[in-house]
Amino acid sequence: MDQSEKFVLLAELADSYCELNHGPGTQREEYQAVNYIVMPMGYKEDEIKEVMVRELVVPVCRECLDALSDNKWTLLYCFDCCQSQWVNRQRAKNRYRHNILWLRGCPSCSNEFGGLYFNNMSGVVVQMEPELVVEA
Ligand SMILES: [Zn+2]
Ligand SMILES: [Zn+2]
Repeated sequence: MDQSEKFVLLAELADSYCELNHGPGTQREEYQAVNYIVMPMGYKEDEIKEVMVRELVVPVCRECLDALSDNKWTLLYCFDCCQSQWVNRQRAKNRYRHNILWLRGCPSCSNEFGGLYFNNMSGVVVQMEPELVVEA
C-alpha cells in the first residue's frame, strides 16, 4: 500500500464504520471506524517469488482496535464471507496465541475449510497519523 492509497483510506474513514462483530442487537452505525486492518493477500509463485493480488482492508473502531492489541482476545475473521467472531482466550477450549486468525471458509458460509492464516498486530494496522495528511 502506498501513501496515496493510505490517503484515500484516511479520507474515507469519516464515513466508515467498524466491520467487526459487536454482538447481536448492535447497529453498525454506532461504531465509527478509527483505523483499518490491512491483510495482504497473495500466493507464492515459487519458493522465492510471492505475488500480491490485493489487500483486504477492514475498517475497525476504537474498541476493536484496543481488543486487537489486548492479549485476552483473538479475532477470527473469514475471508470468504467477512464474518468475524471474538474469542476470549481464557474461556476458549483451544489455545489461541495470535491477535487475528484469518479463515478461508467458516461455518457461516461453507463447510469447506480452505486454510488458516494468522497475524499479530504489529504490521497489520495501517498506521495513519494525522501528520501523514500533511505530508500527502
Ligand atoms: Zn468495532
Ligand atoms: Zn465464512
